[in-house]
Amino acid sequence: MDSASVAHGAAPDGITGEGPSSAHPPESSSSPAAAGAAPPPPSRYESQKRRDWNTFLQYLKNHKPPLTLARCSGAHVIEFLKYLDQFGKTKVHISGCPYFGHPNPPAPCACPLKQAWGSLDALIGRLRAAYEENGGRPESNPFGARAVRIYLREVREGQAKARGIPYEKKKRKSNC
Ligand SMILES: [Zn+2]
Repeated sequence: MDSASVAHGAAPDGITGEGPSSAHPPESSSSPAAAGAAPPPPSRYESQKRRDWNTFLQYLKNHKPPLTLARCSGAHVIEFLKYLDQFGKTKVHISGCPYFGHPNPPAPCACPLKQAWGSLDALIGRLRAAYEENGGRPESNPFGARAVRIYLREVREGQAKARGIPYEKKKRKSNC
């Protein structure tokens, strides 16, 4: 057993979610003091959710051909998730890489960096909530679409294999 030094438990890879860092617009002062009684500052989750929502709206705005929220489907959400991969920081080995399936490769390789499954899963949760908070109807919520769930499951399984992480084993307490 290596009971040696577990002191500084690092946060699990990816979940800290800074989002696609490179391209968020400067949030300048858009007078928050609208409704009197200075509201408390938003929680980290709330501000992350707002940032994610703005990122998505920006994505729609730049989409070619133009896309409105009302016409957005699960397929567009998946397209958005794939677009975000370019900002990812998680090495996902391709099947031809000698380190495919190695949790701790001994040397660097040229495989692409992608968004970790955990980050995408959390992101979809936030966007799904934001969609309804912004007036979207639950039954037409593209972030809750079946295709998106299936895509996320494929990403999880693919990354687990490529990175040698047995996600399944974490579930052994509740075997269903
Ligand atoms: Zn590799």
